[in-house]
Amino acid sequence: MQEKTARKIWITGIVQGVGFRPFVYNLANQNQLNGWVRNTSSGVEIEISGRPSQIDLFLNSLNSNPPPLARIDNIDIQIINTDHHDSFEILTSQPRPGDFIPISPDMTICEDCLRELYDPTDPRYRYPFINCTNCGPRFTIIKDIPYDRKKTTMASFELCSYCESEYKDPTNRRFHAQPVACPECGPSVKLNMNQQLIAEDEEAIQKTRKLLADGKIVAIKGLGGFHLACDAANENAVNELRNRKKRSDKPFALMAYNLKIIEKFCKVNQKEADLLKSGAHPIVLLEKRENQPLPESIAPKQKTLGIMLPYTPLHYLLTEPAEWFPELLVMTSGNISDEPIAYQDEDAVERLDLIADAFLLHNRPIHTRVDDSVTRVVQDDIQILRRSRGYTPNSIASPFSLPQILATGTELKNTFCLSRDNYFFVSHHIGDLENFETLEAFQSGVVHFENLFRIKPQAIGCDLHPDYLATRYAKDRANKEKLPLYMIQHHHAHLAACLADNHWGREEPVIGLIFDGTGYGTDKAIWGGEFLIGGYKEFQRRFHLAYTPLAGGDLAIRTPSRMALSHLWKSGIDWDSALPCTHQLCMEERTVLRIQLEKGINAPPTSSMGRLFDAAAALIGIRQVVTYEGQAAIEMEMMVDPDEEDYYQFEINAENIDPTPLWHALVNDIQKGTPIPILAARFHNSIAHLSLQVAMQIKAETGISTLAMSGGVWQNKVLFLNTTNLLKNNGFELLMHHKVPTNDGGVSLGQAAITAKQIQS
Ligand code: ZN
Ligand code: ZN
Ligand code: FE
Repeated sequence: MQEKTARKIWITGIVQGVGFRPFVYNLANQNQLNGWVRNTSSGVEIEISGRPSQIDLFLNSLNSNPPPLARIDNIDIQIINTDHHDSFEILTSQPRPGDFIPISPDMTICEDCLRELYDPTDPRYRYPFINCTNCGPRFTIIKDIPYDRKKTTMASFELCSYCESEYKDPTNRRFHAQPVACPECGPSVKLNMNQQLIAEDEEAIQKTRKLLADGKIVAIKGLGGFHLACDAANENAVNELRNRKKRSDKPFALMAYNLKIIEKFCKVNQKEADLLKSGAHPIVLLEKRENQPLPESIAPKQKTLGIMLPYTPLHYLLTEPAEWFPELLVMTSGNISDEPIAYQDEDAVERLDLIADAFLLHNRPIHTRVDDSVTRVVQDDIQILRRSRGYTPNSIASPFSLPQILATGTELKNTFCLSRDNYFFVSHHIGDLENFETLEAFQSGVVHFENLFRIKPQAIGCDLHPDYLATRYAKDRANKEKLPLYMIQHHHAHLAACLADNHWGREEPVIGLIFDGTGYGTDKAIWGGEFLIGGYKEFQRRFHLAYTPLAGGDLAIRTPSRMALSHLWKSGIDWDSALPCTHQLCMEERTVLRIQLEKGINAPPTSSMGRLFDAAAALIGIRQVVTYEGQAAIEMEMMVDPDEEDYYQFEINAENIDPTPLWHALVNDIQKGTPIPILAARFHNSIAHLSLQVAMQIKAETGISTLAMSGGVWQNKVLFLNTTNLLKNNGFELLMHHKVPTNDGGVSLGQAAITAKQIQS
């Protein structure tokens, strides 16, 4: 018989609202341990007494097998002398002001709830809001902390006696599951057409399915906002949706009931299957199968489709396979072109009325709008292209301790970032800060995050661009609250974002390959093809693409042919009227453009790598006018002949990388009638080889062999793989994005890290 002993245990991490206390309660009982567990304002506290061998078993399981949504950051254990417990209890707790605990993201319906959803004997049989401590809404419904039903959008639903008995039973999966609900007491769905109620509950779901099967467009309220749905195989419906949504070419996201259906349309490897089925259930970009029958208009000129699995019980009920029902639904965010996703009922009905034939609504309010996350797998690595539902508000651990900081991010694909202790909190995807709705989402988002994580910024970081709305917000607040303001160069922030993403804690500088569309430079030029040397604190611009006029500003961004002509002009190459980029513009437009270029009227200099890709795509004849950011480069990437190995040269002098030799060679190849896939391949290879050449030169100068890659251009998979292979084969250590996007969605993380380091120095 062993002596009894006791322990006190403190745990931090995501340990509240995820079934942690009942898990501890059951574990203690299994091991015949007495004591108690309670939530504190910074985590969970446990006292246990019993036999040492049982205590060891308890601690092992605690570490190795916590509840699915829990994330243990730290466990402290102390041996204590106490033997007065004669049972194990769950105690109530008092939060201390100022403390915080991490909040779980919204999580996909779990296996147990899914089984109950389809069990005719279960009280929640086919109930679209079934959830438990292991799954369901979290971040989207939380109004304040501590996480408690009263402080969520479930507050107005009073628990029925059945739900309450589960909620209060420590052995039940729904013990303290704040959003717990059933058909008796919880939210319900209804179908509206022309502002008239058509059907409720199961009938509403079945009528929605009929409408979708009939080719209609239905606005569906989900977890973090509205989707616009239609039959993905119905070309008329898809085209109609494009017209009404004013979205001409940007790919639509899809949803399928299960993996088997997805595999009919796309190639799915194990890593991609795991990602589709992971707790976040993100959209995964998957390679289309040849001859799959979907209309081209789902994702024009793309080799991939963005697909997700159902992530709420409602989605399961809506997508159930039937002979007459579409296998794939378009599930695109419910908005008109660039506005943020609609999430409140009245607002959605008003804004989406001209798009949707019907509305499937429910009465559980959404507190924070959250878009679907977008991911892909590149050579076994997961890349996040849009970090939102299922990922936010998970914290990102910092390699150094952080003051309380707000970083306001950029103009496009905005996220903001707050920090404290050892955590960065990067926000959900806010969108392009170009209209009132998005700015409002940004502002209320900042306030919400500061409140949830009890952060009062001591300093603010923002972009160097004076006109960005996020910069103006930062300036206003810094003024009002008398806080130091750090204005950070965009590509330095990209570099730091990549370092923080890789938990980089070292002081020595790295080489930054920052290939991007647009960023305001310290010389007021528009940067984007940057070879930097630096770290968090400071950076040096060692090389950059030679400046070329961005004639007409935004017009040049929307019209790659103008960018091509600008590059040709800069390189002293004639505008041969046989070139597609030349005859895209009429004689008069060309005359005006030439005057603009020669006199430098509304033609700011740019070193943008994104614009270099645009120019090449137009010159080769792939795309002259774009309807969304990056379209020309994306379509050129799809054309690349993977077997072609030739490449063109740049001229490097001082800090300038001049593409003149490349343009001469490319125009020469075009005039010889070289096929487009070869031209596209040679251009991509040229950038990969340039990256290696310049990296080698910087390494020779400085001895640095660690390279950080960031910027939107790295979303180009062909370029990314070519370049990383070359660099790895030549002994470089590469830092790439995993936790935040390589595009501007990651920039706020870098701004926060830089601000933290600059404050401290
Ligand atoms: Zn569940
Ligand atoms: Zn109930
Ligand atoms: Fe950028």
